[in-house]
Amino acid sequence: MTLSRLVGGLCLISLLWACGEQPAPPAAPEAVNAETADSAEGTSGTVETQTHLLEEIAPGVYFATGTGSVNVASNALVIVNEDDVVVVDSHITADAGRALLNSIRAITDKPISYLINSHFHFDHAHGNQVFAEDTDIIGHEFTRAAMLDDPLNGATYQTIGSQTAQTGLLTALNEQITSEQGDTAALETQRTVLERHIAALPEVVPTPPNITLTDTMTLRQGTREIRLIHPGRGHTGGDVIVYLPAEKVVFTGDLLYAGAPYLGDGFADEMPETLDVVRALDVDVIAGGHGPLMRDKTHIDRSQAYLRQYWNQVSDSYEKGLSAEEAAAAIDFSDYEEFAAFQVAAPQVVQLEVGRMYQRIEAHEAAE
Ligand SMILES: [Zn+2]
Repeated sequence: MTLSRLVGGLCLISLLWACGEQPAPPAAPEAVNAETADSAEGTSGTVETQTHLLEEIAPGVYFATGTGSVNVASNALVIVNEDDVVVVDSHITADAGRALLNSIRAITDKPISYLINSHFHFDHAHGNQVFAEDTDIIGHEFTRAAMLDDPLNGATYQTIGSQTAQTGLLTALNEQITSEQGDTAALETQRTVLERHIAALPEVVPTPPNITLTDTMTLRQGTREIRLIHPGRGHTGGDVIVYLPAEKVVFTGDLLYAGAPYLGDGFADEMPETLDVVRALDVDVIAGGHGPLMRDKTHIDRSQAYLRQYWNQVSDSYEKGLSAEEAAAAIDFSDYEEFAAFQVAAPQVVQLEVGRMYQRIEAHEAAE
């Protein structure tokens, strides 16, 4: 694999997951600037700030994606109610979390009552610390435990998110810029964003939810009904999806998006069944933790088929007596080159995933 393949495969480098299908920038016919956004409240459409596109997908419900000027690394949902705001996911650093807060202020000055964490991963929850003291943070009990359990030293963070990992990407990017024959402006922009991201990492203090759930919880904020559902184990042991039944919108975090999920902390064996809980919801719009909006359930079919094929390959290797390392090297992603572009570009990620699946197989065997 060439460096450019690696860097290119990792997209804007630390957009981490779902690189294969980065969102086409959402159409923004009614975009307004943050400076003029005062008048945007109560209107429909997309608000663009320096750092975010806030696409109104239902009245007062905004799908927040990064514009690329700051590494936000994941999508968020901003729900503006009669008297307050509820946010889902806080991005990857305090720096990115502050950018989200600033962008929210472009659409409303109402207080943020709750921040919900879809799961514990750094790229969704390491902006938690910038939310004000009077914002409660809600997440699954598993998420709280994981965030209290030194996540900065976990294998996922160390391999993908840490200063060491990100500095390695910067080195590769610098080499690519040096060897590039043509215009390097886009790469240099990536470098600026990556350097800012790396500089922001030491500030992060993992800040766990102070309110937890294990199954379901419903918030009623004015006339808005917001259902938090733990659909079962999947991307992590504590995934929470956020469902707005009246608006027919669900935010699925990394349980479902238009790309292959990272499985290094996952339950690949249980995840297809867990996705059936999403399938059962009455929704028009599915907002994932990465990538573009999804408007039909074929995304669920594809994720389930991918998970089952991956799990079967790993199980076969286990049966044959291969080591986890050998099994990782043998994985055939040819049916999912685009869908699993992140995995295809990053063998160290596949090793984490297959190692995790071996743990799951061994747990099943121990239980028999
Ligand atoms: Zn995740």
